Amino acid sequence: NLTEKLTSVLKDLRGHGKLTEKNIDGALKEVRMALLEADVHYKVAKTFVGEIKERALGHEVMESLTPGQQVVKIVNDALADLMGESHEDLVLAGEKPVSVMLTGLQGSGKTTTAGKLALYLRKKGRKPFLVPADVYRPAAIDQLKKLASQLDVPVFDSEVGMDPVDICRSARAAAQQNGCDTLILDTAGRLHVDEELMAELVRIKSEVAPSDILLVADAMTGQDAVNIAKSFDGALDLGGVVLTKMDGDARGGAALSIKAVTGKPIKFIGTGEKSSALEPFHPDRMASRILGMGDTLTLIEKAAEMVDEKKAQDLEKKLRKNQFTLEDFRDQLVSIRKMGSLGDMLKMLPGVSGNKQLKNLEVDDREIIRIEAIINSMTAEERRKHAIINGSRRKRIAMGSGTSVQDVNKLLKNYTQMMKMMKKFNKGGMRSLRGMLPF
Ligand code: GDP
Ligand code: MG
Repeated sequence: NLTEKLTSVLKDLRGHGKLTEKNIDGALKEVRMALLEADVHYKVAKTFVGEIKERALGHEVMESLTPGQQVVKIVNDALADLMGESHEDLVLAGEKPVSVMLTGLQGSGKTTTAGKLALYLRKKGRKPFLVPADVYRPAAIDQLKKLASQLDVPVFDSEVGMDPVDICRSARAAAQQNGCDTLILDTAGRLHVDEELMAELVRIKSEVAPSDILLVADAMTGQDAVNIAKSFDGALDLGGVVLTKMDGDARGGAALSIKAVTGKPIKFIGTGEKSSALEPFHPDRMASRILGMGDTLTLIEKAAEMVDEKKAQDLEKKLRKNQFTLEDFRDQLVSIRKMGSLGDMLKMLPGVSGNKQLKNLEVDDREIIRIEAIINSMTAEERRKHAIINGSRRKRIAMGSGTSVQDVNKLLKNYTQMMKMMKKFNKGGMRSLRGMLPF
C-alpha cells in the first residue's frame, strides 16, 4: 500500500528534519502512481501532486511520524480539502412538490438510481414520485414503471413518443394528486454527450426548475468521467453527482477527478444493482480508498484494527499475571511489523513519549525480523521461562538464528525491560493501552 511504499522511499529521513525537494521526489512519484492506478485523470493527478509538493516542502517531520507517514498525512489533508469533509445531501428546498433531475449517459445507471433514490427519500419521510422521461426507448419507460411497482412508489404514466418536457410538466400535477412531494425525473441518455441531448435537458431544467440536478456517472468510465462531468455541468450547472458501479473494480478515482474539475460534490455512490445499494458518499473515507491507505490513517487506529478486543484482553491478563512470554512477544512483534515501526508505535502512546526507558528501546524494522528469528530458535520452555536462557543456550540460539550472542542478549534485555515497564502501568494506563498496543 501507499503508506508502506512512502515509508520505504523515505526511510533514510528518520526522526526529525525537514522534507526537502530531494527527499520527497520519490514519494511524490508514488503518490502520483497511486492516483493514476485509482483512475484519477492524469491532469488532475498532476495538479494535485504539485500542490502536495508545495505543502510538503519545508514541512517539519513530526516527532511521532516517519517521513513516509508525514507525507501520507499531507496527502490525506490535501485530499480532504479537495473532496470536502462530510456527506452533502440532496437539495430539496423550495415549494413542494420539488423535483430531482437525474441526467447522464445511457447505461450509467439513471433508472436504477431513480429507484434507489425513491427508496432513500421514502426512508427520510418524503413521498417520492417517479417520472420516466426517457421516451426514446420503450424498454426504458417500462423499466422504471416496473421498478416503481416493485418498490410501491407512484409513477407517472409516460408513453413512448411523448415530449419529455411535457411529461415533466404534467408529472408535477400528477404527483400532487398522488400526495407526493418529491419528483424524481429519469431523463434520457445517449451513448455520447451530444447537443440534442443537452438541449433537451436544458429545456426540462428551465421548465421544471429542479431543486437538485444530479449527474449519474459510471465509476468504471475512469478517465472519461472528467469530460462527461464537464459537459453536463457546463450545460446544466449540476447540484452534484451520483457515482454508480462502485461495487466493481473501480477504485474511485473518478470521484476525485469529477470533484477537482467541476467542484461539484459526489453525493451518493451506487454499490450494486439492487434498489437498496445506494450509499451517501463520505469524502473522507473515499480519500483513503483512492490511495489504498485503508479506512484509517493513524497508527493508533491501525493498531486497534490489528489487535482485536479479545486478544487484547488476554494480553492484558497475561501482563497482569506476569505471564507475557517471549512467544507472546514474538507474536506481537509480527503484528507490529505489519503496521510500521515499533519505535513510532511506542512514541504515539500516551505517557510513553516522555519515558526514558522506553525511548531507549530502539527497535527498528529489520531488528524485528531478527528478533523473530531468535525467538523461533528457542525451545518452548525457553520462551516460557526466559530466566533459564544461560550462556550456552544463548550461544546455541544465536547459531540457530544466524545472529550473534550480542543480539540474543539485547533481545532478552529489551524483553525484560519491557516487562518491567508494562508492570508500571497502572490499571488506568492499561485500559488506555488495551486495543492500541499489542503487548
Ligand atoms: P440508465 O441507462 O442510465 O438508466 O442505466 P440503468 O439504470 O438502466 O443501468 C444500466 C445497468 O447498470 C443495469 O444493468 C443496472 O443494473 C446496472 N447498474 C446501475 N447501477 C449500478 C451499480 O451501482 N452497481 C452495479 N453493479 N450495477 C449497476
Ligand atoms: Mg434508463
